[in-house]
Amino acid sequence: MNKILIISLSALLSAPAFAGMQPFFAKNIPEEWPSYEIKDYNGQVEDGYDGPLSNILVIYDPSIKPEQLNRYLVQQTAIANKAHDINNIKYRRNVVAAIPMKLEGDNVAEVADSFEFGAFDEIRRKYGASVVSLVINSNLADGQCGVQTSYHTVTAFNEPCSLPTLLAHEWGHVDRLGHEYEHTWSHFEDDNYAWRCGGKPTIMSADLNYDQFDLNEFYSDPNVTRGGEACGTVTANNAKVLLETISDIEYARWAQVPPLEKIGNVTIALDENQSSEFEKVITVTRDGDVSQAASIEVYSDAVTAVPATDYQELAKRVEFAPNETTKTVTLQLVNPAPADAICDDGERALKLGTRWGEKLGSSNQLDLTVKTPEDTLASCAKDKESEPTPEKPDNGNGGGGGGGGGGSTGLLSLFSLALFLFRRRN
Ligand SMILES: [Zn+2]
Repeated sequence: MNKILIISLSALLSAPAFAGMQPFFAKNIPEEWPSYEIKDYNGQVEDGYDGPLSNILVIYDPSIKPEQLNRYLVQQTAIANKAHDINNIKYRRNVVAAIPMKLEGDNVAEVADSFEFGAFDEIRRKYGASVVSLVINSNLADGQCGVQTSYHTVTAFNEPCSLPTLLAHEWGHVDRLGHEYEHTWSHFEDDNYAWRCGGKPTIMSADLNYDQFDLNEFYSDPNVTRGGEACGTVTANNAKVLLETISDIEYARWAQVPPLEKIGNVTIALDENQSSEFEKVITVTRDGDVSQAASIEVYSDAVTAVPATDYQELAKRVEFAPNETTKTVTLQLVNPAPADAICDDGERALKLGTRWGEKLGSSNQLDLTVKTPEDTLASCAKDKESEPTPEKPDNGNGGGGGGGGGGSTGLLSLFSLALFLFRRRN
């Protein structure tokens, strides 16, 4: 068992302003994040690619918002694959499914201690993945953002751990890459030799308190140069280690579990008759060889609609039994409480698609619009005449004007309480 601490909390807390890369963490979407199409989720590997494929099953804490997580995953695989291109290595990381599951433990160290070697083997085989990446919430009591053990990685998804190369780093460990230090000392036995180039550390650097968001997006490699400086030596050469690892079929993780064969595609459609202003009903139909069990995830992705305000984010895995061809899923549109009603009857857009199929591909995407239900607009604050604050009668015997104010206060208190509970749950 090889567990590796990679980033100290103190290093993260002294992080400089982001430079060069986009930070990826739970709070900065949907406004700041790109919106993705089906092809981005299902096309992390370009058409026609025929080289080694590191298929990854992601298991994530159910409290993590799926749209945030999924954009994060696409970004992380894109960075890992870009690194392979820069290092001139034919190799691709590819998320094949993301499954919500509550794990034991409140931080990376506790979660990593809670399972044994060989855990999650059955589920990784179900999805044709060789690597299992656990993405968790963390109280940061252990001061760690990520570890790797065997074919598992455990990483925290929060602002202090928003390193854009975090998963690429841990996936590197899965493939036997050691740390690269910019100093000659090290407290890790398995470290490679120190390296950085052009003033920036590489992905496998373990000492990231220097411009952590402005990394070299590749592994150490004497054949790669930045600013005329070679980014590796004979001994600091993680590119070579990676190439040797993925070529070593006896060891290579990527070769341990065969990828799944695609047996058909899935089409989604809006069932207008069953849908209402509070709920959209989506039919999910598969074609091809329907004799085998298979599954696929139906997901939502914000365009101008706001998750949790205009609709409830969707990340629903639809399981087809043998010979079952059609299922339905529902997208819940939020019925806004008066306190947070959107005072706008305009249409707001989102997309639905299918991704990360178990033996299934995706045929289409739905562009949907939602609008605030008519009968909630009346209670929306902006639509109401502003009411003068009722004056309290001096004698305390109760004038006629107090009732409406009391009702509003009660409602406001209730809303505050709901917010408080929500925060407590975090
Ligand atoms: Zn590490």
